[in-house]
Amino acid sequence: ISRNPGENEFHQAVREVLECLSVVLAKYPEYADERIVERICEPERQIIFRVPWVDDSGTIQINRGFRVEFNSALGPYKGGLRFHPSVYLGIIKFLGFEQIFKNGLTGLPIGGGKGGSDFDPKGKSDMEIMRFCQSFMTELYRHLGEYTDVPAGDIGVGGREIGYLFGMYKRITNRYESGILTGKALSYGGSQVRTEATGYGTVFFVDEMLKAQGQTLEGKRVLVSGSGNVAIYATEKVHQLGGKVIACSDSNGVIVDDNGINLELMKQLKEIERRRLKDYLQYEKSARYVEKGNIWEVPCDVALPCATQNELNRKDAEVLVNNGCIAVAEGANMPTTPKGVKVFSDAKILFGPGKAANAGGVATSALEMQQNASRDSWSFEYTEQRLHQIMKNIHRDCYESADEFGEPGNYVMGANAAGFVRVADAMLAQGVV
Ligand code: NDP
Repeated sequence: ISRNPGENEFHQAVREVLECLSVVLAKYPEYADERIVERICEPERQIIFRVPWVDDSGTIQINRGFRVEFNSALGPYKGGLRFHPSVYLGIIKFLGFEQIFKNGLTGLPIGGGKGGSDFDPKGKSDMEIMRFCQSFMTELYRHLGEYTDVPAGDIGVGGREIGYLFGMYKRITNRYESGILTGKALSYGGSQVRTEATGYGTVFFVDEMLKAQGQTLEGKRVLVSGSGNVAIYATEKVHQLGGKVIACSDSNGVIVDDNGINLELMKQLKEIERRRLKDYLQYEKSARYVEKGNIWEVPCDVALPCATQNELNRKDAEVLVNNGCIAVAEGANMPTTPKGVKVFSDAKILFGPGKAANAGGVATSALEMQQNASRDSWSFEYTEQRLHQIMKNIHRDCYESADEFGEPGNYVMGANAAGFVRVADAMLAQGVV
């Protein structure tokens, strides 16, 4: 903590992993002998840079850009870019740290990294977004490469931003290198299913957890927090698998629709028109909007936090358990506070941590890299099948690893241990570098 002062989210993420590792280190003392834990907590490289840009009124604005290249034991650094005013080094480091183990769990050759800026895209014009992305890439480009570092999207960075970033990279370098970013549009090297992948993957994961208990999603009432990329496609897959999403949210309020969230309307409002969720009410009169409401108070069978970190605390977890919720899977990164996780674990309800449950996004990014490297493009059906199999494998690995380390059914333990072992073995093999 004294080495990384003030980086609260990073401390939280590290503590959660370390709490699970004592049994792993007891079984495999070579990890401790080689100081793998200490090495894994120190990023290989941290880049912080100025991002100056000019807004529509002609005023110069200055933001701060970050790229933390955390661990390359398994492959090039891989992890998204987040544009949100709350971004600072502690957020990027927590996300980068989580990414190391998540990427390990996918079984694909990708290391861990994360980046972003404290830029707030809300209320900005298209041209302002473009100028910001161009300025951001003017520094970032020198750190990227298909064998070095391959960013993607995250909060505030979707297809539009990736397009502007890619265009600027190409212009600066005079190289058409499809493999330096993922989350690209299909028209220039993107992969089918990448847009859907994190949300779909989270639902595949919760489906596997339920199946391991002899249950399914059929007929289940589901809460999905957020209304961004992850939330939209989690909702779509829940509906396809026979469940019903009855509430979603944004940072202003909660929509409750007992008929099931109207997905086409949600896509139109959020993806195309970029409006606020409240406007849902103008079209679905029977729904309810609760300004500053708490989505976790809506009774449900399954909860999927898909918005942001620390959005589900101890009290929320208690309410969910008391209302009969049987399964929670994290579509977002670290959305449940440590005390919230403890409530779920004490109540023995199914809990899928983000580094396992939301790994489908980065896994499909790795599939996009495979397609770019071979100048190929796969069909939607084939790519979704690959994603589904990867999520089944991640579930199986977490389940078996929890058993191996003496905590059957504890997916937090299983995910941390399985992800750590995969990365640690590669670090051991590569020596002290
Ligand atoms: P988006 O920017 O597309 O959407 C974020 C959503 O969360 C928005 O609806 C936003 O609402 C909402 N939100 C933000 N803060 C709050 C809050 N305090 N309370 C309620 N809602 C809030 O981001 P993504 O969907 O891409 O990412 C969501 C989460 O999933 C993040 O934790 C991200 O790290 C994680 N993730 C994303 C992946 C991806 O492939 N996109 C991959 C793996 C993880 P508003 O518009 O009001 O801000």
